[in-house]
Amino acid sequence: KAKAIGKNNIQFFSLDMKQTMIRKHLIERKLRAALKDQKFTLNYQLQVDLSTGKTRAIEALIRWFDKDLGIIEPSEFIPIAEETGLIVQIGEWIFENACRQGALWNANCYPDVLISINVSSIQLKQSNFSEMVKRILKETGLEPSHLELEITEGVLADSFEKIRSILEGLRSIGVKISMDDFGTGYASLNYLKNLPLNTLKIDKSFIKNMDEDSVEKDITGSIVSLVHKLNLEVVAEGVETKSQLDYLKSCKCDNVQGYLFGRPVPAERVQDLMTNVSCMLLDRWIN
Ligand code: C2E
Ligand code: MG
Ligand code: MG
Ligand code: MG
Repeated sequence: KAKAIGKNNIQFFSLDMKQTMIRKHLIERKLRAALKDQKFTLNYQLQVDLSTGKTRAIEALIRWFDKDLGIIEPSEFIPIAEETGLIVQIGEWIFENACRQGALWNANCYPDVLISINVSSIQLKQSNFSEMVKRILKETGLEPSHLELEITEGVLADSFEKIRSILEGLRSIGVKISMDDFGTGYASLNYLKNLPLNTLKIDKSFIKNMDEDSVEKDITGSIVSLVHKLNLEVVAEGVETKSQLDYLKSCKCDNVQGYLFGRPVPAERVQDLMTNVSCMLLDRWIN
C-alpha cells in the first residue's frame, strides 16, 4: 500500500501544470460524487495522557478510497475541497459522523474521552458554523465539553476578531479549542494569548527532528514550558519512537499522539489500540 502511494506522489509531482489541472478537476468531480454516495470514512487516532496512560482524546481523520484512483490522501483532496467550497458539506458530514461516534463511546465505554475534529478555516468562517455545530451536538447527544475543535494557524491570516468571537461563542457552551500544527504557521504569541484556546498541538516536524538534533529537542522542551505558562494543555504530534516519548515525558509534555501508539484506525479497532497503549506504557515505566 505504501509503495502504491509513493508511486502516485512521484507521478503527481512530475506532471506538468496542465496534467495537474486535469487531476484537480478529476478529483473535484470525484469529490462531489463521493459526497453524494457517502464514500468517505473516518479513522481515529489516540491522544494519550502521559501522566495516566489513558486516552484523553480521539482524533477523527477523514479517509477516501476511490475505485479508480485508489487511496487519495487528505493532504491532496482537502485543499481541493477548500478551493471548491465542498469542504463545507464534507465538513458537516465529518461532524455528524464523528460526533455520533464520540457520543457512542462516551455512553458505552469511555465516559471522559474527548472527540477531536479538524476544522478547515473555510468551514469555520461560514456564517452558520456555530449553528451547525450546536445542531449536531443536539442531534447526536454529544456533550459540548467532549468536543474539541482542531484549528490551524491559517485561520488567523485574516479576520482575527471574527474568528475569535465564533470560537468564544462555542467555548461558552463548553466546546474545547485546540491549535493544531503549532510552529508551522504565523500564530504570534499575541494570537495565542487572545484566542480562547484549551490545547496546543506541537507540529510533528519538531518531533521528527528531535532524535538527531539536540537543538530541536531544546525547542520542543521550550514550547512545552511556554504552553504551560499560557495555561494550556500540550499535545505532541507525530511521536514515532520510544526515545521521543521518553524525552517528551521528561520535559512534562502532557499528551502524545503518533504512530508509536498506532496509525489511525476505523472506530471498531480503537479498543484494541487502547489496550496496546496501556500495555506499552506499563511496560515502559512500571517495570
Ligand atoms: P493533522 O490534523 O495534523 O493530522 C495529523 C496527521 O498526521 C494525520 O495525517 C495522521 O495520520 C498523521 N500522523 C499521525 N501520527 C503520525 C506519526 O507518528 N508520524 C507521521 N509522519 N504522521 C503521523 P492525515 O490523516 O493524512 O491528515 C493530514 C492532514 O489533513 C491533517 O493534519 C489535517 O490537517 C487534514 N485532515 C485530515 N482529516 C481531516 C478532516 O476530517 N477534516 C479536515 N478539515 N482536515 C482533515
Ligand atoms: Mg489535527
Ligand atoms: Mg497536526
Ligand atoms: Mg496538518
